[in-house]
Amino acid sequence: MGFILAIHGGAGTIRRATMTPELESGYHAGLCAALKAGHAVLAAGGPALDATIAAVMAMEDNPLFNAGRGAVYTSAGKLEMDAAVMEGRERRAGAVAGICGPRNPVLAARAVMEHSDHELLGGAGAMAFLNTQDIVFEAPEYFATERRWKALQTELERRRMGAMTEADDSTRHGTVGAVACDAQGNLAASTSTGGMTGKLPGRVGDSPQIGSGTFADNGSCAVSCTGVGELFVRYCAAHEISARMRFLGEGLEAAADKVVTDLAPVGGNGGLVAVDAAGTVAMPFNCAGMYRGRIGEDGVAWTAIYREELRADRG
Ligand code: ASP
Repeated sequence: MGFILAIHGGAGTIRRATMTPELESGYHAGLCAALKAGHAVLAAGGPALDATIAAVMAMEDNPLFNAGRGAVYTSAGKLEMDAAVMEGRERRAGAVAGICGPRNPVLAARAVMEHSDHELLGGAGAMAFLNTQDIVFEAPEYFATERRWKALQTELERRRMGAMTEADDSTRHGTVGAVACDAQGNLAASTSTGGMTGKLPGRVGDSPQIGSGTFADNGSCAVSCTGVGELFVRYCAAHEISARMRFLGEGLEAAADKVVTDLAPVGGNGGLVAVDAAGTVAMPFNCAGMYRGRIGEDGVAWTAIYREELRADRG
């Protein structure tokens, strides 16, 4: 059977006014690079989990995306990253919350899954565990970007002014994620984020919470979410799609659309990428845009940002 990979690089009110042609092509190029990294794994017969991790790593390394290098700042001006991985065959999962150090937080999540007895590790304890693992660490400066620092200053100023102006989602949040169905029909999902600009120190979003921002089960779907994490947690967004498929018999697209549509009126601005074992892909979002893309066996990378059709990689 064929394989498929879908990714997102965050969703929200991505304003065309603040988007330059250079930035826009930078995002398309970043998405393409991530799709190709995942595709290389799947084309070599690799598992869905490895493909999603490869795609997420490419976006973590790219400062345009809010994950790894280029992560957003807490209200205290620090970086606290969250990530999760899950594979759908045995529902094994691993996650980290509130860490800063591993170059690729998604690999930290994988280490928790593969080398600890636990599913989620956070803060200082997570760092102590990760220091025993064979993963690459970076100094805080590696992750720091001027753009995210400015976004924090803008957000803090907005709050000082009584939050009268609208927050700019394009600089405030974001997340990267990938879902895949490999040639064996196994599903997987990986998600990684810096969270939300100006979040309270210690705040943990939906991304590392299995069933909220990340979920995979071969019997239904693999899902990676992006958006206002608190709402995705309260509505158990990723698992809800799986539940609708299993209990209501809905198809992937109908279930994913329903969950994303229902999140909008309660303030759950965002979207997700999802895939099922038949290779169906859903990429719904309830806001202005979502950096997103997909790639199948033919190796053609398809990407989009706004509500336009996906466009084929012309690079
Ligand atoms: N869901 C992420 C969080 O709440 C942020 C985002 O995806 O925009 O941490």
